[in-house]
Amino acid sequence: MRTIHRVSFQQDGITYDAEEGQWLYDVCEAAGASVPFACKAGACGTCATQIVQGEESLGPQRAREIRTLESNGLDPKQYRLLCLADVHGTLTLGASAKTQHGAASLGLFKARVEEYRPLTLTVCEQRFAIESGEITFCPGQYMIFHVPGLDKVIRRSYSISSHLSDRTHFEICVRAVSGGFCSNFIHRLRPGDCIQVEGPYGDFRLAEGSQRDILMIATGTGIAPIKSMMLSLLGQTGSRRIRLFFGLRNVSDLFYTKLLSDLKESHPRFEPTIILSQPDPMGWRGLRGRVTDLIHEQVSPDQASNTDAYLCGGRPMIEEAKRLLINKGMKVDHICHENFF
Ligand SMILES: Cc1cc2nc3c(=O)[nH]c(=O)nc-3n(C[C@H](O)[C@H](O)[C@H](O)COP(=O)(O)OP(=O)(O)OC[C@H]3O[C@@H](n4cnc5c(N)ncnc54)[C@H](O)[C@@H]3O)c2cc1C
Repeated sequence: MRTIHRVSFQQDGITYDAEEGQWLYDVCEAAGASVPFACKAGACGTCATQIVQGEESLGPQRAREIRTLESNGLDPKQYRLLCLADVHGTLTLGASAKTQHGAASLGLFKARVEEYRPLTLTVCEQRFAIESGEITFCPGQYMIFHVPGLDKVIRRSYSISSHLSDRTHFEICVRAVSGGFCSNFIHRLRPGDCIQVEGPYGDFRLAEGSQRDILMIATGTGIAPIKSMMLSLLGQTGSRRIRLFFGLRNVSDLFYTKLLSDLKESHPRFEPTIILSQPDPMGWRGLRGRVTDLIHEQVSPDQASNTDAYLCGGRPMIEEAKRLLINKGMKVDHICHENFF
C-alpha cells in the first residue's frame, strides 16, 4: 500500500499529497509551488525554505547542507535545502529564503551579451559585460541565470569559463540540450541582449596552498569551470604538473582544441589529452574511448597519491572517475567535483 504524506506550502496557500520518499523538488514541481531551484544539488542555496512543522520528516542535515545554508547567511535550524530532501512525514513549509529576502541580498547583476561565439553546432560561448558593479569569483564557480519563462523566472546554473582577473566581464560555455528551455534561450542571446544573473556560487574551487600535481577531467561543457581553473593555474609560476583529460563524443563535438594546443605550447607543464567516445571510423586519428579509460592507462598509484583531481561533467562519469582514482590511491579529500546533471 502506498503511504501518502500531506505537504503544505504556506507561502502559496497550497497542499499536496506526496508519496513516501518523494523528492521535494518533484513535490514542488507537481504542486506548482513557487520555491525557486537552480543547482538541484545543495550547492547554491536557491531553494532554502523555512520549515514550519515536520522537520523530523526530512531526515538529518548533512555537512554540505549546513555549509551552504550558513554561507547564504541562513540558520540551518530554521531552513532546509529542499533539493536535498525527501518526504517521510507530514510537512509544513514556510517562506522560501530567496523570495523572502528579495533581490537585494542575492548578488544580482544585469549582464549584457558582448560577444557570441558558436563553438560547435550545439555548444556556444557567450561573453557578458556586467552592467553595474563588478564580480569577484574563484575559478570553478558558477552564476545562476534568471531566464524569463511563461509565468515565472526559471533559474539555471552556468559555470564561469573565463579568467578571474576580469571583474567586469565573464564568459560561459553552454550546450543546447535537446528540449532544454534555458540552454536554448541562452544560445539565442546575441550582442546587446541583457539577462539577470546571480552569484557567484559554488565550492568547486582549487585547493588553497596545495603543491600536489593536478589532474583535471572534463566531459562536454564540463570543461567550462576547468578552463577558468586552468587559465588561473597557468598564470601562476610553479612546477606543478597539470594534466587535462577532456572527453567528447565525436569529431563534430570538438572545441577548444586550438586553445589547448596553444596553452600546451606556451606551458610545457600542461598536458592536455582529448579522447572521443564515438568517433567516425575514418575521421579521427586521436584517442578513442572514455576519460575513465585514461585513468586506467595513464595514472599510476604513485601519481595518484600526489595529485589533486578536479572533475566536471555528468554524474555517472564523475562517480566512475572518483571510484577509479580512489582505487589508484588518491585521497578522497583531494578530489573535488561538480555535477552538471
Ligand atoms: C553547478 C552547475 C553548473 C553548470 N554549468 C553548466 C555549464 O557551464 N554549461 C552547460 O552547458 N551546462 C551547465 N550546467 C547545466 C545547466 O544548469 C542546465 O541544467 C542545462 O543547461 C539544461 O537546462 P535546460 O533548462 O536547457 O534543460 P531542462 O529544461 O532543465 O531539461 C530538459 C531535458 O534535458 C535533460 N537534461 C538537462 N540537462 C541536461 C544535460 N546537461 N545533458 C543532457 N540532458 C540534460 C533533462 O533531464 C530534461 O529531460 C550546470 C549545472 C550545474 C548544477
